[in-house]
Amino acid sequence: MTLSLYDASYQQLADVLIGEPPYRVKQLWAGLYEQCKALDDVTTLSAPLRTKLHETLPTSLALVRESVSDKGDTIKFLWRLVDGNHPIETVLMHYADRVTVCVSTQAGCAMACGFCATGQAGFSRQLSVGEIVEQVVRASRHAKQRQQRVANIVFMGMGEPLANEPAVWGAVERLHGDMGISARHLTISTVGIVPGIRTLATRPLPVNLAVSLHAARDDLRNDLVPINKRYPINELMDVCREYLRAKNRRISFEWALIDGVNDTARDATELAKLAMSLKPTAHVNLIPLNPTPGFPTRGTDAAGVRRFAERLKDRGVNATIRRNRGTDIDAACGQLAAGQPVVLTARRHV
Ligand code: SAH
Repeated sequence: MTLSLYDASYQQLADVLIGEPPYRVKQLWAGLYEQCKALDDVTTLSAPLRTKLHETLPTSLALVRESVSDKGDTIKFLWRLVDGNHPIETVLMHYADRVTVCVSTQAGCAMACGFCATGQAGFSRQLSVGEIVEQVVRASRHAKQRQQRVANIVFMGMGEPLANEPAVWGAVERLHGDMGISARHLTISTVGIVPGIRTLATRPLPVNLAVSLHAARDDLRNDLVPINKRYPINELMDVCREYLRAKNRRISFEWALIDGVNDTARDATELAKLAMSLKPTAHVNLIPLNPTPGFPTRGTDAAGVRRFAERLKDRGVNATIRRNRGTDIDAACGQLAAGQPVVLTARRHV
């Protein structure tokens, strides 16, 4: 496999620029990561040098399509991985006070959550550090056209970040160390891979951890999030406690509200109990379920979502309702399938 531009280390770039003064490598590195420039726009390097770099270290992502929603504030990029041709997606979201990029960590996903379009489509392959970083760099370049700087990265695109932890951590180091994005503005979301959370607890930077819970009792969670059969809720909570002891950073729970499935008073009580069992108490992010082709059950309606949030608050748990972005272009949570066909399955809760 050829080394790609964004997988190359500083030293590997220096090796390609051998014979050039050392400051050239510095200029190139700053151009790529601080200024998020395309190689051709790093004009401190001569054209022949840029050509040599292109030939030795190609980029990884070919843009297939840009879809726009929310009056231009949400942009979904569909890419093809140059190596292997797999499609992946990245979402850029402009808010009044910040710009967030949602990145994919795998082409597809092996976790098979029935309500998630990525899960419905299955797994293709892991992404490399460079393939993750390039998504951020290219989205940042796009944001720069609006004079905006990307400050938040969420590892919530296609794939399960903690099933590809070494590459995700490599990307975290690059985003933090070279692009200057604060570790506190990086959020890794997991379906609940217990060994992955344990590894993350040993990592040095204070990134945020979000756990996609969706159900607070094993029978329901086994059904919604099949990996729960391998890592049941009590083991998941134990490793969350281990993480909290190491990091002392509040964990958040994600909860996609599914009509009549996990939005009842009982669910709120069970969820509150789990959230309160962590110190500090977990924060809950409520996401009304977004439609996906393979899961006919609807999301909870707006009034039901508010009622659920109130129930949590009454029990002492802070909950926020996540505003949906880009539903019309299939860019919202759980909708990223990169144009892949989904497998239609009949499920118990449909
Ligand atoms: N695999 C990781 C990263 C994906 S993050 C994880 O599971 O955390 C995407 C988030 O959107 C997860 O919380 C996921 O459970 C949630 N999600 C999936 N499908 C959804 C849907 N149809 N509507 C709303 N949220 C969904």
